[in-house]
Amino acid sequence: MRTADARLTDGRGGSTAAAGSGLPEDGAPGTGSTGAGLPGGEPADAGTIPPDSGAPMTAPDGSRTHGPLARRLTVLSGPSGVGKSTVVAEIRRSHPRVWLSVSVTTRAPRPGETHGVQYFFVDDAGFDRLVAEGELLEWAEFAGNRYGTPRKPVEERLARGEPVLLEIDLQGARQVRQTMPQAQLVFLAPPSWDELVRRLTGRGTEPPEVIERRLDAARVELAAEKEFDLTLVNTSVRDVCSELVTLMAVQ
Ligand code: 5GP
Repeated sequence: MRTADARLTDGRGGSTAAAGSGLPEDGAPGTGSTGAGLPGGEPADAGTIPPDSGAPMTAPDGSRTHGPLARRLTVLSGPSGVGKSTVVAEIRRSHPRVWLSVSVTTRAPRPGETHGVQYFFVDDAGFDRLVAEGELLEWAEFAGNRYGTPRKPVEERLARGEPVLLEIDLQGARQVRQTMPQAQLVFLAPPSWDELVRRLTGRGTEPPEVIERRLDAARVELAAEKEFDLTLVNTSVRDVCSELVTLMAVQ
């Protein structure tokens, strides 16, 4: 794999309006979902929490996150079309030990996408409710839709010491940087701008105006590469996956 110089930076992203801190009992998504609820919560196994767990940190929104618990959290970000979801699908197949967060989105499902697998599909009111009740670890608006990470399942896996991977956009990565500074932020870069345009337009799932918005967002995302702990260039999905699981210290 060509790892675009494994740059190590101390970049720290700016803060954004993350969700509140409440953890409601009811984890069901709002209307617009097609059946499965958000993943339910099992009790965390405190025995797996590292003994040197420090004091909880307080996020800008008042929510608290145990920093050391975030050690096993890896965030994969990068421009739309770079191949993040392909990498995630390959990791799901080849490394089942890595727990992959399933995001909530207001975007309509693409052909072949299943509620509860690629995303939990909710409508605007359902998303509003998740934000208001603090059920999202981070969330962002991207190209006209909203996306967010359900908080509870991530916190439970981290409490059990399990490796967790989030595939989210730049705004979400910045929020995680703020609330969980020990998370590892990995930037997935395209081999070239032309290749990114080719992948985005070749996907054939979005109308031209949506592709344009995604290319605009991609310019912003590419400019933020230095905020990440390191960069992987997506020349080979298999190579990126193997590099990523090595970074996550998954045996
Ligand atoms: P897509 O519509 O192509 O599936 O995703 C659009 C963008 O939303 C991608 O950059 C993807 O990484 C990002 N995304 C997916 N889930 C989340 C999430 O939970 N939070 C944030 N902030 N971004 C997400």
